[in-house]
Amino acid sequence: MTDVLAITEHRRGELRDVSYEIITAGRQLADETGGDLHLAVISGTVDEFAEKLNRDGVEAIHTVSYGEEFNHDVYTQAITQLYDELAPQYVLAPNSVNGLDYAPAVANALDLPVVTDTIDLETDGETLIATREMYGGKVETTNELEGEAVATIRSTEWPQSDGTGDASIEAFDADIDEDAIGSSVNGFEEVAGGDVDISEADVLVSVGRGIEEEDNIPLIEDLAEALGATVSSSRPIVDNGWLPKNRQVGQSGKVVTPDVYIAIGISGAVQHVAGMKGSDTIVAINTDPNAPIMDIADYAIHDDLFDVVPALTEEFQ
Ligand SMILES: Cc1cc2nc3c(=O)[nH]c(=O)nc-3n(C[C@H](O)[C@H](O)[C@H](O)COP(=O)(O)OP(=O)(O)OC[C@H]3O[C@@H](n4cnc5c(N)ncnc54)[C@H](O)[C@@H]3O)c2cc1C
Repeated sequence: MTDVLAITEHRRGELRDVSYEIITAGRQLADETGGDLHLAVISGTVDEFAEKLNRDGVEAIHTVSYGEEFNHDVYTQAITQLYDELAPQYVLAPNSVNGLDYAPAVANALDLPVVTDTIDLETDGETLIATREMYGGKVETTNELEGEAVATIRSTEWPQSDGTGDASIEAFDADIDEDAIGSSVNGFEEVAGGDVDISEADVLVSVGRGIEEEDNIPLIEDLAEALGATVSSSRPIVDNGWLPKNRQVGQSGKVVTPDVYIAIGISGAVQHVAGMKGSDTIVAINTDPNAPIMDIADYAIHDDLFDVVPALTEEFQ
């Protein structure tokens, strides 16, 4: 029986959605190894988090009470010690800024291979087959890792688990070496644009260079407001400083998977498509019928956005 240890994530007192997605990913692997799924909750209000994470398919939740927020050294030490105690076959972490900070360090400390940004994981109990994307999402590769391994999972690739579980909640007394803690969190500074996380939006109204100038952005914001949607964009809009970086969809922006993605004046360059091709329904508004975005759109509106967008806004208001 070989177990899976999945590390959950929180920020500023809130569990992040990926914590529930990693339960699904971990459960699938645990089913395939015939083992149990263990979760780790480190720092913050661990008991409160553990209650919320007690979902179907989780056998045990290990809480490590130490500090409020993420700290590289605390996480690395706690996970390494949990691994020594539980001897799981696989350690899963979110492919987030935090996960990418500690997962390689944990793998290094344990002398295990690490595979990052996975979008699918399978095992026959011996070999982990990890799927990743390359070349801006044009190619999927499978990586085979023998034996124990550390993997980070891309958010929104697995559904969130639900259903109340009956996991045991166990406080883990990690022996944190304070002398080895080299960093601390002194506060938070919001990036411009506030707390908006476009990867969690159900409907995105996305604007591209077809909008021509910054003064026209409110046209898009009006449509988003009428739809109860969130505004996102292609990279040139961010590069121009018309919207903050956290709104950028794509290879060097965020990967999004909304129910509806409305691409307005966006050509559909491969680096953009890499970030939004997982959307359920894609609507494209473009004057160029040969724009690549038209090929992947479920609904393609071949027309001028300056006519179409106000008409749509009026319709939905
Ligand atoms: C390493 C690297 C990473 C990158 N990462 C990203 C990324 O993360 N995200 C990203 O988006 N890009 C990224 N890019 C840039 C990418 O290659 C494209 O340049 C960019 O996506 C183009 O943005 P766009 O579609 O808004 O603009 P354009 O390609 O200029 O397209 C504008 C579109 O608007 C249409 N249009 C014009 N006027 C109107 C109108 N009045 N009504 C309707 N339609 C109109 C045009 O027909 C055209 O299709 C990256 C590039 C590199 C090299």
